[in-house]
Amino acid sequence: MGGKQKWALIGLGLAALAGAYVYVGVDVRPHEEYVPDPLATVVEDTIPDSPSAYGIPLEGFIIERGQVKKGQTFSDLLAPHGIGATEVDSLVKLAAPVFDIHRMRAGHPYALIFTDDSSRVPAFFVYEADQVDHVIFTLRPPMDVRVDKRPVRTERKSVSIAVTGALWNDLEKAGADPVLALKLGEIFQWTLDFYKDVQPGNRFTFVYQEHTVDGERYGQSELLGIRFEGSTTKEAFRFTKDSTEAPTYYDAEGNSLRLAFLKAPLKFSRVSSGFTMKRFHPVQHRWKSHLGTDYAAPYGTPILAVGDGVVEKAGYTAGNGNYVKIRHNGVYETQYLHMRKILVKQGQQVEQGQTIGEVGSTGLATGPHVCFRFWKNGKQVDHRREELPSAAPLPQEDRFSFEMHRDHLMAQMEQAEMEAQRVSTATF
Ligand SMILES: [Zn+2]
Repeated sequence: MGGKQKWALIGLGLAALAGAYVYVGVDVRPHEEYVPDPLATVVEDTIPDSPSAYGIPLEGFIIERGQVKKGQTFSDLLAPHGIGATEVDSLVKLAAPVFDIHRMRAGHPYALIFTDDSSRVPAFFVYEADQVDHVIFTLRPPMDVRVDKRPVRTERKSVSIAVTGALWNDLEKAGADPVLALKLGEIFQWTLDFYKDVQPGNRFTFVYQEHTVDGERYGQSELLGIRFEGSTTKEAFRFTKDSTEAPTYYDAEGNSLRLAFLKAPLKFSRVSSGFTMKRFHPVQHRWKSHLGTDYAAPYGTPILAVGDGVVEKAGYTAGNGNYVKIRHNGVYETQYLHMRKILVKQGQQVEQGQTIGEVGSTGLATGPHVCFRFWKNGKQVDHRREELPSAAPLPQEDRFSFEMHRDHLMAQMEQAEMEAQRVSTATF
């Protein structure tokens, strides 16, 4: 048995013991989509032979760590260690090209590194500007200030979880970034009805990319592939031709999971009044038709363009209040009324999901809401009853690389499912 395989088995065994459903694969090339790495590899932690901190070898030094307190300045931190105003001044000047000392904030960690002898001469001061950047001040002549970056490690992981309640909590319990639940919600917004289709005992299997700095999660995890198994099976695979393009999610056949239109112009909303040919108008106090759908939401909630298009009108009328009308193509137009604030200009190109305004109650409105109107071939229709077109499918010339990529993700999903199965059987 090779060293790698042995480590893999030990790793999987430990994961099983810990009851974690997490299976770890390693991807050290963060910007490549297709990585035909062996599936089961676990990297050993590299423990340096001699201790070091921030890349500074600590032999012959002692380190003292702390957190910047409220109101504490750079010189407050250094003065007690015999570093006077002139030296502080020089350090501030040396730092200026790489770090503005006024950007030091309370709560951030710092470290002072002294010589390990009776004189305890302060040699370095390190300020952690964020999880990645730390500013290293060399205090002894020749004085120097530089910014070092901690390495960001990117790993490809997979996890398979049975739905017990909120997906957010299930992910957290499994040790995965719970933000994946939100991403899943966005990707499957046209595919799954989360209230109806997702039931306890159903299974979600994720393949995702996680970034860590010194073992701590850094930034958001990226969702590469998902499989849902319930009354139906649904899959999504992320695919990007090049890194400049926004990633798109396709099903196994290469159909876009995105429809040309969002279901609603607000992320979280409630329909307060549907599309109807006749209703009693709450302000005008008479029966009239309502050729739109009202979504109630708090003032200031972002209003999203439901599809790609061009802003045809952005203005004000007594009835509409502040409103925006978007032409999506030769067939479809949409309109958004009663905005508190308009955030686009006439003639502007907009993308699906882009914020175009804020919820308000301008014009004829009793409370904060968006009146959303939808035209098909110049006729106002109820968008909730329309069969909406899909976004463009995968281009033919990308099919081969997509399929390679998809098969690799599928293999990882299957591995994670098997592992979860094994762990859950072992628990009984
Ligand atoms: Zn309305």
